[in-house]
Amino acid sequence: MIIGIPKEIKNNENRVAITPAGVETLVGAGHQVVIEKNAGAGSGISDEQYLAAGARMLDKPAEVYQAADMIMKVKEPLAEEYDLFKEGQVLFTYLHLAPEPELTRALLKKKVVGIAYETIQPEDGSLPLLTPMSEVAGRMSIQIAAQILEKPHGGKGVLMAGVPGVAPAKVTIVGGGMVGTNAAKIALGMGADVTILDKNPNRLRYLDDIFGARLKTLMSNSYNVKAAVAEADALIGAVLIPGARAPKIVTEEMVQAMQPGSVIVDVAIDQGGCVATVDRVTTHAEPTFIKYGVVHYSVANMPGAVARTSTFALTNVTLPYAAALANKGYEKAIKEDIALARGVNTIDGKVTYKAVAQALNLEY
Ligand code: NAD
Repeated sequence: MIIGIPKEIKNNENRVAITPAGVETLVGAGHQVVIEKNAGAGSGISDEQYLAAGARMLDKPAEVYQAADMIMKVKEPLAEEYDLFKEGQVLFTYLHLAPEPELTRALLKKKVVGIAYETIQPEDGSLPLLTPMSEVAGRMSIQIAAQILEKPHGGKGVLMAGVPGVAPAKVTIVGGGMVGTNAAKIALGMGADVTILDKNPNRLRYLDDIFGARLKTLMSNSYNVKAAVAEADALIGAVLIPGARAPKIVTEEMVQAMQPGSVIVDVAIDQGGCVATVDRVTTHAEPTFIKYGVVHYSVANMPGAVARTSTFALTNVTLPYAAALANKGYEKAIKEDIALARGVNTIDGKVTYKAVAQALNLEY
């Protein structure tokens, strides 16, 4: 099979869908890999590294789309890429079709086999191609909070770790899933005083088991959230209800009760945010705003700032699926793996993912 990797063109997207290790694996299995020149530059991967691993470099995106049986990307294709699809081509990427009727139409028209990273789901219900980005964002959230707590960034001038004789920062994390756990790990590692809230008692048991007495766990209810938010120097929003808008667990009054110069990092912003005062999505160029004296950070694509780490983390989990699609052909690969089958959003001119069909009012 010929696998093609175009350069990402979305604003500020520096990730790339394959690393030299991925090229070596696919080429070693007898496939050809064609990559658009400079595709890896934003992640610190040179054309020479791809060439040395066995890839062929092409000048233009159109050449990549033309040559390939399967396209691997990071973000959903943009309008200028729609005309480049080949009939029957496999497209393996984050697709997020529900809010994208134009893209969906383009995939249906060209009978593209659209396999979405975000809907690949094994029997256990996990979303393995979303997990690495939650790990990245969770870990980042604390280094961002630590920096914003510094006076020049608008914070109250508190050092996350404290020093001997001076208490460390108090960090409150709402939501103890993938993001929350990774945030807790870094905050504890820096020496902060950390409290985490979740509404799932089994999750709290797990967190208690792995972190021991250094981490305070609390059941998430409005009473406990109110108290933990009021005392926080840094608040991390990390709640998720799968498939739904994030619930506003932290109310406006709770934020008003925080001390001026405290920090809120609402990682759940990509699902609407779980803090009531987070009323906008911010960007890496202008990441914060101040409300009630509290510095708010609500960037929806946090991993984009650490493109290199994110590229390697993402491709670690996409490559085995890409290899299965290439080695077996997509028809056999999706027949044999329910996780991959759930990833298929479009095939042969039809939408095959219920939530997408419902959102776009299309036949399923
Ligand atoms: P997850 O499913 O692993 O964890 C969510 C946790 O929230 C679960 O443990 C759940 O029990 C808990 N929860 C649900 N309702 C709650 C409540 N009322 N109070 C307290 N806890 C509650 O999800 P995740 O991977 O940790 O992702 C969290 C959020 O971060 C998602 O919205 C995800 O899309 C987002 N995210 C954002 C970025 C970014 O760049 N901003 C990057 C990655 C992930």
